[in-house]
Amino acid sequence: MVASLDARGTHAWAEAFLDEAERHAEALGDLDRESGDGDFGTNLLTSIRSARARLEQDPGERPADAFSALSAAFMASGGTSGPLFGMWYRELATAAGDAPAIGTPELATGFAEGLATVCRLGGAAVGDKTMIDAISPAADALAAAATSGVATADALAAAARAARAGADATASLVARRGRASYVGELARGVVDPGAATIALFVESAASL
Ligand code: ADP
Ligand code: MG
Repeated sequence: MVASLDARGTHAWAEAFLDEAERHAEALGDLDRESGDGDFGTNLLTSIRSARARLEQDPGERPADAFSALSAAFMASGGTSGPLFGMWYRELATAAGDAPAIGTPELATGFAEGLATVCRLGGAAVGDKTMIDAISPAADALAAAATSGVATADALAAAARAARAGADATASLVARRGRASYVGELARGVVDPGAATIALFVESAASL
């Protein structure tokens, strides 16, 4: 794991995430099938293909560029999650700015801004059984790490644990937003696929 993330670092992070997301796409689609309408896996695969093409076409010169490639790819795909993931990655890119390398402070800002944007656009809050339930604890972990000057690798490891715990905890919730809200109690016991995808993204940083 690296001390800070340069352009190659975020590129490798994005690729590790796309590999993991592809490996889990069918299972994530099954979660949406059990709790929503089942389009999540297909939408995700479309985004993955588009993101890979964008990363290959233009590897980027700044850490922000890989996040921008993910943003553009998700933004263009369907479902409720596509544009929300798109805006989430856009905030990570904005927080990275023009910096040649980013660390805990930029990641903390990006996660906090990403959380605020997804909450504002989707109208959901913590506990509504959405991706927010993974983003929020990860953002809290990074904010705490930034305050105490924790190194990037340790901060991301803590954020990954928090995101996974948040995603796992969605199983006991009943959705109040998105298609999953239509099935109510039926989705109790099912992990939210959007939250699980965020957990995969943050965990992918640990493999760098
Ligand atoms: P749809 O609900 O339109 O079928 P997808 O299947 O693409 O959308 O995505 C479902 C995921 O989107 C859920 O797992 C959840 O994490 C996320 N989601 C749905 N609605 C919202 C919302 N209002 N705010 C945040 N995330 C949401
Ligand atoms: Mg769906």
